[in-house]
Amino acid sequence: MSASRSSLEQKPAPVEAAAWTVADAADYYRVDAWSDDFFVVNESGHMAVQPFGEPSLAIDMLDVLAELRERGIRFPCLVRFQDVLRARVRRLNEAFIDAIAEAGYDSVYHTVYPIKVNQLHEVVEEVLDAGKPYGLGLECGSRAELVATLAHLESDETLLLCNGVKDRAMIALILSSQRIGKNVIPIMEKYGEFEELIRLAEEAEQQTQFGVRIRLRTSGAGKWADSGGYQSKFGISLPELMRVVDALKASDSGHRLALLHFHLGSQISEIPQLRQAARELAHIYAELIGLGLPVRYIDVGGGLGVNYTDASEEGGIRYSLMEYANAVVYAIKDVCDERGVPHPVLVSESGRAITAHHSVLVVEALDAYRKNSAEHAPPLAKDAHRIAHNLDEILSWLTATEAGATTVDKVIEAYHDVVDIQDEAATMFSMGYLSLEQNATIERMYWSSCAAVLAHLRALDPEHAPPEVQQLEELLVDQYLVDFSIFQSVLDHWAIQQPFPIVPLDRLDERPTRRGMLVDLTCDSDGKISQYVSADEDKKFLHLHTLNRGEAYPIGFFLMGAYQDIMGDAHNLFGRVNEVHVYGDAEEEGNFWIEKVIPGAKVQDMLAQVQYFPNDLQRRMQEQVKQKIDAGDIRPKRGMEILDQYRAAFAEETYLLNTRAPRREEE
Ligand SMILES: *Cc1c(COP(=O)(O)O)cnc(C)c1O
Repeated sequence: MSASRSSLEQKPAPVEAAAWTVADAADYYRVDAWSDDFFVVNESGHMAVQPFGEPSLAIDMLDVLAELRERGIRFPCLVRFQDVLRARVRRLNEAFIDAIAEAGYDSVYHTVYPIKVNQLHEVVEEVLDAGKPYGLGLECGSRAELVATLAHLESDETLLLCNGVKDRAMIALILSSQRIGKNVIPIMEKYGEFEELIRLAEEAEQQTQFGVRIRLRTSGAGKWADSGGYQSKFGISLPELMRVVDALKASDSGHRLALLHFHLGSQISEIPQLRQAARELAHIYAELIGLGLPVRYIDVGGGLGVNYTDASEEGGIRYSLMEYANAVVYAIKDVCDERGVPHPVLVSESGRAITAHHSVLVVEALDAYRKNSAEHAPPLAKDAHRIAHNLDEILSWLTATEAGATTVDKVIEAYHDVVDIQDEAATMFSMGYLSLEQNATIERMYWSSCAAVLAHLRALDPEHAPPEVQQLEELLVDQYLVDFSIFQSVLDHWAIQQPFPIVPLDRLDERPTRRGMLVDLTCDSDGKISQYVSADEDKKFLHLHTLNRGEAYPIGFFLMGAYQDIMGDAHNLFGRVNEVHVYGDAEEEGNFWIEKVIPGAKVQDMLAQVQYFPNDLQRRMQEQVKQKIDAGDIRPKRGMEILDQYRAAFAEETYLLNTRAPRREEE
């Protein structure tokens, strides 16, 4: 929409603006590095989704937003593309099918989906449905997850793996599910758990199957390295495994060690590590087969990586899905062939790789705060304070001097003077020697001077920028106030500095001229995005567009499907955002239809979580208003209106109603 508008309204476009294309936008926001062909910048300068991971069908995200607005759904809104979820399941399974065929591997592969990555019922159902042709199963890690997953095992063959520490009641429930013929495998994290399982099985007079998580020598790397290796808090050591073997052989009661498991942690960064762990486990498997234990499955855990940024960046994933599948299949096949044992059924617990791509958090910029916005300020009054005149002199020199017509040293000297004056002004103000108005004038000139210094330094020596350049760049970044809570929706950014791709959904055919930082609604200095995915050297800010009056500026947070919305907390009581599920369909207008809308948290929902309830709060409020009426401070009618207003707020959404059009900034 902006494209057509600006081409109508604008006189000949400036040369610089004309040079910016949608390809530049795709490159700047690194779309190809993280989208895995599910997202592109289209010809209109909008972000578009390719729900099937190929160009044959694309959905313009602005069409989706238009329909959401029409239906009265507000932002922030989590938009789930269910087809992307299905495509991820297919890609993962097809990769293993291909690897198995190419290697001549003599067994099959199953994905089990660990629901902790995204427990939303619709996500689990969609993954199960897409995985049906491949015999996809589930993994649970807690009592609540066990209860949720048990009811979703349609076929008796469908695997359910139960990780995590389990108490007696959970083990008993697992045994009962085995009793009704379900393929449920509790994975022993500790030796004591194994003893409990056997004891309860004997009590129930039934045979049981189980798996063990092995504490391998190989460990993972990166942010989640502690999930594997000797130091891991999970798993059974080799001496304990031998005790399990001895106990099984001694009892001769038909209990079965069916599965061996390791988990290296999320975002495995290197294939050799995975290969080594798989080989290590395959040797253990071969030994156990040799000892007469009919182990059936090898489960290589999760950790299949997803690129949120360029693969070459820290934490980047430098292997493909195909390489991952080949590494697992060949490592295990080679060991089994060497040792002359049958090929086990392969299992992986890939969570992030299935769910990350399918959801996009759409937020709106409410306002942009620019520090040096008052560039066309009136000239300084004659009777202004001495230090204001000093600063004005420097500012005039900075603005009158042409770019490149001075030296770096002179500009730096001017900058230091500017900083000194600003410090002096702050001291004088705090001692009462400067009026508020005088101080405001100095602050305005300070920001203008900083901007001018930066412009000079950039022009003078772009190659060898002095440290002041970075300082100033950080100082002068615009703040974009955005309607969301980082603690609710982008928790990993706050907790482990995970960068997420963030892209304006509109105006991508227009050069983003402002350097911005996104700040959220929470009253917390951590409530900001401090690392971005872009082609810039410095990732502490992102190039964005100037906000236009009356025009929304929607921004997409991509790859939000794994872990984020599930872990969100109740910081400032914002709660879950609105959510919609979109399907791609070439027969529909705009190539999509919206299947489902899940409303976000209401004020009363969030309050109930912390034990505030409408009746009590309203009674208290009523009491206060009544006192004011009785005292004659307000008319009864007005008092009742205030109470109605208070009551209505309980059913309202926790996020903001963006009635306020974004402010046009001074150019
Ligand atoms: C978290 C977890 C997974 C999922 O890992 P991803 O990196 O999301 O694939 C798999 N297995 C276990 C045991 C886990 O704890």
